[in-house]
Amino acid sequence: MAFFRISLPLPGMELGHVNVYVVKCSDGYGLIDAGLATYDAALSLLRGLKSLGIKPSEITKVFITHYHADHITLAQFIAEVASPDFYIGEGEVSEVATSFEDLARLYAEEYRRHGAPAEVAEAFLKIHPMSRYRKAFEDVWKLPWKRVKDGELLDCGLKALSTPGHTPGHTVYIYRDGVFTGDHILPKITPNISWYPKKGFNPLKAYLNSLRKVYIKAKGYPAHGDEISDITTRIDELVKHHEKRLGEILAVLKEPLTTYQVAQRIKWDAGSFENFDVYNKIFAIGEAYSHLLYLEEMGAVKRVEKDVVYWTRP
Ligand SMILES: [Zn+2]
Repeated sequence: MAFFRISLPLPGMELGHVNVYVVKCSDGYGLIDAGLATYDAALSLLRGLKSLGIKPSEITKVFITHYHADHITLAQFIAEVASPDFYIGEGEVSEVATSFEDLARLYAEEYRRHGAPAEVAEAFLKIHPMSRYRKAFEDVWKLPWKRVKDGELLDCGLKALSTPGHTPGHTVYIYRDGVFTGDHILPKITPNISWYPKKGFNPLKAYLNSLRKVYIKAKGYPAHGDEISDITTRIDELVKHHEKRLGEILAVLKEPLTTYQVAQRIKWDAGSFENFDVYNKIFAIGEAYSHLLYLEEMGAVKRVEKDVVYWTRP
């Protein structure tokens, strides 16, 4: 076996589980992603390692794909039971270092500026993983991260590829005939591409470029779900999905609309926007916003700044 997969539970998250992969390194073992900081996940990780005959102290490296709670927040726990080096994409580190208060304010203001009712923005901040796992995030921010560069060859037979989009510093790790894809390429769901408080970052444009970058006949080992037999097939589907959504948004813009109103009018796979909980509403608004930013850069839509931002077709 070239590597192992340990599936860790994600209590309270729709995805249900996150995959942590274990690879052999010259001085022990490496993990791809850490998991969510919960009792269940910590227990599952220790039990998973035990079933593989690996002692926690043999973990010498932890490679993180991106800073979302379900991937990174268990890192401090691992630091307590082992002394690994921690790796993360270099674009991600500065993002991670933003203070919680700043981040919360930036999000709330931006979503309000894009037509979200104040109660949606406020409620979102309360249930956002950044606040639910705040303590774990604060610990994780302090870890001595090693910044991984695009194309960098690492121990354990891994090569890092920077794949911004899902987050500004998302990184996948190429391994033998496959790729540990993190949340860049998932088998069942389309990774959420949303707005980030990072100047000049066009998430959908970055994401589509990053998909092209890993367009190689290879297996995919995703953070959620089972192995993908050929990632190029899945990439084709993902690109098609976003092209369709771009077309749909243009079709919806018959009159000036806010990002929130656009999100209300899109046909979502998960059902109607009005029935979404706050969490999924914010996801939907972010998703609509990333597509509008993409169309804006293409010159296909124009923004009109009033007290809120309206989008029109030029
Ligand atoms: Zn993620």
